[in-house]
This record gives sequence, C-alpha cells and structure tokens, in this order.
Amino acid sequence: MIKKADIALFFLLLAAGLVVSFASLSADTGDKVLITVSGETYGTYDLSKDQTIHVSHDGHTNNITIKDGSVSMSYSDCANQVCVHTGAISQTKDSIVCLPNRVMVEIIDSKAGGDVDVISG
Ligand SMILES: [Zn+2]
Repeated sequence: MIKKADIALFFLLLAAGLVVSFASLSADTGDKVLITVSGETYGTYDLSKDQTIHVSHDGHTNNITIKDGSVSMSYSDCANQVCVHTGAISQTKDSIVCLPNRVMVEIIDSKAGGDVDVISG
C-alpha cells in the first residue's frame, strides 16, 4: 500500500539526490588524478581531460584511463586484477591500488592542498 505522501517523499529525495550529485559533479571540476609508483609521484593529471596514461615500472604495465571525469585502471598485468575490478572512481580521495605492481591512483583536490603529503616518505 503506497500512500501519496510516500510518493511525494520519494520525488523529494530523488530531487535532492540530483541536486547533491550535480553539486558534487561541479565541485569536482579541476580535480587532479595523482599516480604514484612505489610511493613516489609518477605524475598528476587533469581529471577533466580524457586520456590514457601508460605506466611502465619494473617490467610491469598499468594503463590508467581518464574519461568523462572518472578514472579507472583499464589494464594491468598484475596477477590478481583487483585494481582493474575496482572500476571507475570519480570522487576526491577515492583511490585504486595495484598492490602487486605498487601503483596507486588517487583523486586529489588540487584546491585543498596540505593533506597530499601523506604519501611522501
Ligand atoms: Zn593490479
């Protein structure tokens, strides 16, 4: 038994969700993708710019694809493929880790600054 109030609430939540996701989407603009290999910075890339980064390290290969504001590990030659199965990430502080290849992909907020130095050392 669905009441009218329930339907109204449903649409209210739906609308709120859309607003929130739109707000976070626009807030993400200009964010960077940080790639680290063996704990060292490999490079930072624009999340808004579609591209594929080929990481070659110690005979291992990882391809990181940035597309439509999200980033994913499109290819890895590691054994467990956990990183590939992680799928696409798009939120600040989300990360994809390839433990066997020691490759880490992380979305950082370039405007926030300060808390990026966790990786150093
Ligand atoms: Zn992996």
